[in-house]
Amino acid sequence: MIQNFTTVRTVSELRQVIGEWRRAGLSVGLVPTMGALHEGHFSLVDRSVMENDRTCVSLFVNPKQFSPTEDFDLYPRNEAADAQALQCRGANVLFAPLVEEMYPADAATSVSVPGLGDVLEGEFRDGFFTGVATVVSKLLIQSMADRAYFGDKDYQQLRVIRRLTADLNIPVQIIGCPIIREEDGLALSSRNAYLTTEERAIAPALYTVLLKMVAAIQSGADSASAVQDGTQHLLSVGFMKVDYLAVVDPETLLPLSSATGPCRVLGAAWLGKTRLIDNVGV
Ligand code: AMP
Repeated sequence: MIQNFTTVRTVSELRQVIGEWRRAGLSVGLVPTMGALHEGHFSLVDRSVMENDRTCVSLFVNPKQFSPTEDFDLYPRNEAADAQALQCRGANVLFAPLVEEMYPADAATSVSVPGLGDVLEGEFRDGFFTGVATVVSKLLIQSMADRAYFGDKDYQQLRVIRRLTADLNIPVQIIGCPIIREEDGLALSSRNAYLTTEERAIAPALYTVLLKMVAAIQSGADSASAVQDGTQHLLSVGFMKVDYLAVVDPETLLPLSSATGPCRVLGAAWLGKTRLIDNVGV
């Protein structure tokens, strides 16, 4: 299906396109991305195309969510291929602003979500969730979307976004979508492109370990021993460093010592220079 498709770079162009749709009574879905699109991203786009009259995809490698030691310059960028694929998937507009458009020199406001944004990823990536919360708030307000789609792949991010939308009364429905995986279990990620052949062969172990942790806590093991076994296993198969493995409450992200009710098991670990994250629901 080839739809009318356009790329816009300014907020005023975006508002013009989406304003016309809204005046015509059409519903709008937004899929925020950093590009280098893969089937994980496309699953969000497909869902938005299915549930809305029009779909806007944003492509913005957000400098505010990268610390100075992270991979901002290296992050894969391929806007032409992304735009072509999005058109084929039935998206209607690609919003690909420059950094100066999103953050003019005199911009001073940021959005923080203390608590949810301080644990897990927040402990290891200073300022990360303030960067994410700020850019997502801006995208939701800029696009005036009815629905916005995010992957469970970034589970903590999804929780942070649900919180900020409720707290700031942004009139949008946040929709979480399941994690898309390779056949061997590795969660799709733009950063998987960094993996060497050898690392790629080891990478699915992160998911395997999370599944083992789920099985262990479901059969009565306490979280601490599941975390310890999981960490040892990851290090033994070739991961360099485990930032965290954690069993947490799926809403508050606070640690659970055992799994008597619903919980989420999350992990982040380094394979060479690549940091992988993944999670599983219980
Ligand atoms: P990113 O471009 O990495 O910022 O991701 C953009 C959106 O795609 C986020 O909502 C991610 O959670 C989602 N996403 C990334 N990888 C996957 C995946 N493997 N399965 C489902 N959603 C994903």
